[in-house]
Parts: sequence; structure tokens; C-alpha cells
Amino acid sequence: MDAQNPPKKVVVCGGGVIGVCTAYFLSKKGAVVTLIEKSSVACAASGKAGGFLALDWCDGGPVSPLARASFNLHRSLAEELNGVEVYGYRPVTTVSFSITESSSSLSGQLATKASSVPSWVDGPAKGPRTIGTTATTAQVHPQLFTKTLLSKAVEEYGVEVVIGKLEAVKVVEDKAEAVVLEGGREIEADAVVLALGPWTSKLSLMDSIFRVYGLKAHSIILEPKDPGAITAHALFLSYSPAEGGKPLDPEVYPRPTETDLGCESA
Ligand SMILES: Cc1cc2nc3c(=O)[nH]c(=O)nc-3n(C[C@H](O)[C@H](O)[C@H](O)COP(=O)(O)OP(=O)(O)OC[C@H]3O[C@@H](n4cnc5c(N)ncnc54)[C@H](O)[C@@H]3O)c2cc1C
Repeated sequence: MDAQNPPKKVVVCGGGVIGVCTAYFLSKKGAVVTLIEKSSVACAASGKAGGFLALDWCDGGPVSPLARASFNLHRSLAEELNGVEVYGYRPVTTVSFSITESSSSLSGQLATKASSVPSWVDGPAKGPRTIGTTATTAQVHPQLFTKTLLSKAVEEYGVEVVIGKLEAVKVVEDKAEAVVLEGGREIEADAVVLALGPWTSKLSLMDSIFRVYGLKAHSIILEPKDPGAITAHALFLSYSPAEGGKPLDPEVYPRPTETDLGCESA
């Protein structure tokens, strides 16, 4: 260790995928990192998400370079951490189509007519379109991914995990000096990273800087009877219930061990 230039003490607040990845990469670069999480790692969106990854879906927007770098980084991390086995990393074919709920036995035959529609879709799929290939879309199990990265950060790069609720950041002359946890414990820091997801805006410190807000979404996890039948597809649907009404737009993310049905709230 260079005594003239000791590693920075960084406190990362929030044990979701953002906080954990920040802790992982900073500690790998030599920083002394403490991660603060109020409940348990990946207990919020980062444990419930679809885990869907896309190379070029942000192209044309301001975060395009970030999305592309992230997609490629996932591929190299999966090689480094045996992500295929450990957290279900796999390239997927992504298809969009419209479907109407139906009990007709004909519907299964109609659905399998288009080769792009996976064989396990048993409704009449209309207008199937391949919107991502195995070169441009992939998935991970988000909770396993986050926990795997944290284990590595703890075991190999010395990250300390503290279960506690961040109450405040002590700032002196525009510089973060410590974090204060519920109960009064203080942890000194040269730098503080806030990655509290939608809770970030609860810190009064943030009011004057920028606003962070959450977007509600829900997901349902189904366990398949036959995991071997789950092909590497992600589906973006316009789904019309048999009884009529407004079509829904669920996203379906089958994983080797389970299927995540996600939908944004209106
Ligand atoms: C249903 C659903 C499906 C999604 N699908 C996808 C997808 O397929 N692909 C994709 O890229 N994204 C997806 N997302 C978005 C993605 O999940 C989020 O963008 C991501 O998980 C955010 O991570 P985060 O670390 O910022 O926040 P979070 O996962 O919300 O983590 C924040 C953490 O901070 C902790 N915390 C809060 N307050 C405090 C405090 N005071 N002190 C200490 N800790 C605190 C919380 O307990 C939590 O663990 C989906 C989201 C949802 C809800």
C-alpha cells in the first residue's frame, strides 16, 4: 500500500444492484469500501426485476454509451464469475407480439406457426416481431447477480457490509466527512455514494441537489413444472383478456428456474 496515497475510504449507501456494483468496482480499484444496507442485500427492485439486458435499446438517447458499456460489461463479468452457472446469465431472443386469451385448442397451433414465437406460447400470437437477438439481448437472475458480486467484493476486495439505516450525511465545507446511521453510529468517509433507489430523495441533503423518484411496477414469479422446457426468450406482449377491456402490456422473462412476469403500473 502507498503510505503517501492511502486508499480512499468510501461509504456506499444502499445494497441494491447500483450500490453493490459501485462497491465492487471501487474496492477492486483499491478503495476501502463500507456498504450500508437498511434491510438485506437486493431486497428491493434489484431482487425483483426481470434482469433483462439490452445492448442498443437506448441508442439515440443520452444514456446510450452507458447502456452499451453495461451490456458488454455483463458479458465479461459472466465469463469472469461463471455467471451462466451462478446467476443465470444467458443471451436471449426477444420477441414482441399481440395475444388474446383463449381456451380454443386451435390457438396453440396458430401460435406455433410463426417460428419466432416460442413453442410454449399457447395463444394466437399476432404480428410477431423479433426485437432482440442473442447478440443484443440477455438476462441475469437479478438477485443472484447482485449477491454474487457482493460475495466476491467481500471475500476478495475486503468490502465491509453494515446492516443499518442511513439517517444523514455529515457534510463540512461541501465535503462529505461521515455518515450517520439510525441509533447514532457514525462511519467516517472520504466520499459517500448514495444508491438508495427511490428512497434517495428521503435524505434532506438531496432536496437542494436533484430529485430522485421511483416508478412503480409489479412482478409475479412463477415456478415452472419443467424447468428444462424454458427456452431462452423474453416476450414483450400486448395481451387482451378474453373478457375484453384494455390490452395489458406484460413482459415475460423466463429464467432457467422460474419465470418473471413484469408490468409497469399505470
Ligand atoms: C418489477 C420490476 C422489473 C424490472 N425489470 C428490469 C429489467 O428487466 N431490466 C433492468 O435493467 N431493470 C429492471 N428494473 C429496474 C431495476 O430493477 C432498477 O433500476 C434497479 O434494481 C435499481 O437498483 P438500485 O440499486 O438503484 O435500487 P434498489 O434495488 O431499490 O436498492 C436500494 C437499496 O437501498 C436500501 N435503502 C433504502 N433506504 C436506505 C437507508 N436509509 N439506509 C440504508 N439502505 C437503504 C434499500 O433497502 C434497497 O436495498 C425493474 C424494476 C422493477 C420494479
